[in-house]
Amino acid sequence: MVATAPLDIPVIEPSSCVQEFLQSPRQIFINGKWQDAASGKTFPVYNPASGQEIAQVAEGDSEDIARAVAAARKVFDDPNHIWNTMTPSDRGKLIWRIGDLIMENLDELAELESLDNGKPMGVAKVADVPLSADLFHYMAGWTTKLEGNTIPISVPYAPGAKFHAFTMREPVGVVGQIIPWNFPLLMAAWKLGPALATGNCVILKPAEQTPLTALRLGEIIQEAGVPDGVVNIVTGMGETAGAALAVHDEVDKVAFTGSTEVGKMIVNAASGNLKKVTLELGGKSPNIIFKDNADLEATIAGAASAIFFNHGQCCCAGSRLYVEKDIFDDVVAGISAAAESIKLGPGLAGDTEMGPLVSDEQLNRVTGYMNAGQEAGATCITGGTRRGEQGYFVSPTVIKDARDDMSIVREEIFGPVVVAAPFDDIEEIISRSNDSPYGLAAGIWTNDIGKAHRTAARLRAGTVWINCYNIFDAALPFGGYKQSGWGREMGHEVLDLYTETKAVCLGL
Ligand code: ADP
Repeated sequence: MVATAPLDIPVIEPSSCVQEFLQSPRQIFINGKWQDAASGKTFPVYNPASGQEIAQVAEGDSEDIARAVAAARKVFDDPNHIWNTMTPSDRGKLIWRIGDLIMENLDELAELESLDNGKPMGVAKVADVPLSADLFHYMAGWTTKLEGNTIPISVPYAPGAKFHAFTMREPVGVVGQIIPWNFPLLMAAWKLGPALATGNCVILKPAEQTPLTALRLGEIIQEAGVPDGVVNIVTGMGETAGAALAVHDEVDKVAFTGSTEVGKMIVNAASGNLKKVTLELGGKSPNIIFKDNADLEATIAGAASAIFFNHGQCCCAGSRLYVEKDIFDDVVAGISAAAESIKLGPGLAGDTEMGPLVSDEQLNRVTGYMNAGQEAGATCITGGTRRGEQGYFVSPTVIKDARDDMSIVREEIFGPVVVAAPFDDIEEIISRSNDSPYGLAAGIWTNDIGKAHRTAARLRAGTVWINCYNIFDAALPFGGYKQSGWGREMGHEVLDLYTETKAVCLGL
């Protein structure tokens, strides 16, 4: 590992309500009951700012998944169950209430998220938690608007016959949802909101690194009055609980967010019963700065935030920074200065701008890439090291002089590491931007509106941000081209992926 620069980490005690939540081992939520894992096992959860254990959580495995699937199946398959007879309007009110309760518990959720994941509490308060609430509020409105069509049909082999044909939108059924650790509460919301709005029953498997806010959300869902068995939450490891969920024959769909590597395993596991699969996977997003830029200062700040937000632990992080040659040195100097000014610290400290990486494993992965880049001949302008000996901190890092075929340019690092490269013209940069197995997001910074649109149209990415970055909204679909995924999260697009269309044809 590269040399470590010192870092002072203040010790900050969590508030009493969070301490209380963490005191007893957190249980699995099946059929409306909080229970130990069938095996009785628990696993530790760590504070990434200190490396210290903060909680024990039930370690579910295939047996717990089987119980949760059975509970969800029982609800879904019973036509007289309240979940299936409730009016769309009442279902919408329940989902709206989840959003309200999230906002009522804003401080506690933000603190728990910060403690568990390492992100600054201030960021969780203005982004993660309100976005989660907003997602439920947005989805609540869709329950009453899931309409089919009436379809005039011709039927050439039945001359003169008359038909009344129409489509209905029905829930897919029992849905397994597997989520990552970078936005634990928000990813739970992205998954649960549309599944509930469309009337499905769910088994949610949070990431083992960050299960706490999903478990707190389970309590909120219960308080909101969602019937028992509709939402089940099974904590545990990916290779056991996650794999059991993906392979289960009684599960009709699996929705996964995480690495492309595990996404491919999910596809294989799903093939047994050909369950529906949606995937939101990795990225290596190009962020392109053209020289016709009226406000370079704002652009530099935007490009720095594109990579450093959430410590670079975003699947859409602007990790390949392409800058038109004339302004390359200025932009790189600006981003490096921005990197050096970021205040590192524990998420719970009020002045922290960047917390630790989520785990020891991520620390090794990110510093491994930092080393690999430098060994391959790239120049590290700032950062490039772990910070301190305690917790999982790394310095925000800016690298240049990398070749396009180096691993730091091609592979997802998932840390605060940007690789900057100059370019000469638009055709070159479109082709280099698209030269990636990924296609999740891209950024364009220019004052030439025509160039912005022409470039956006040719980038093979699910989201293109122009003169902004990391703008998310419950109404805006998000997802990837190529190996960045299948399907979309959010917006009305996601509702298609949680419903089946039934065509009904009536002979008159
Ligand atoms: P990361 O590499 O960012 O940790 P992963 O793709 O490994 O992301 O994990 C994302 C989610 O997938 C987590 O909830 C994890 O437990 C789960 N997971 C990991 N491996 C598997 C697997 N083989 N089958 C199902 N889920 C898995």
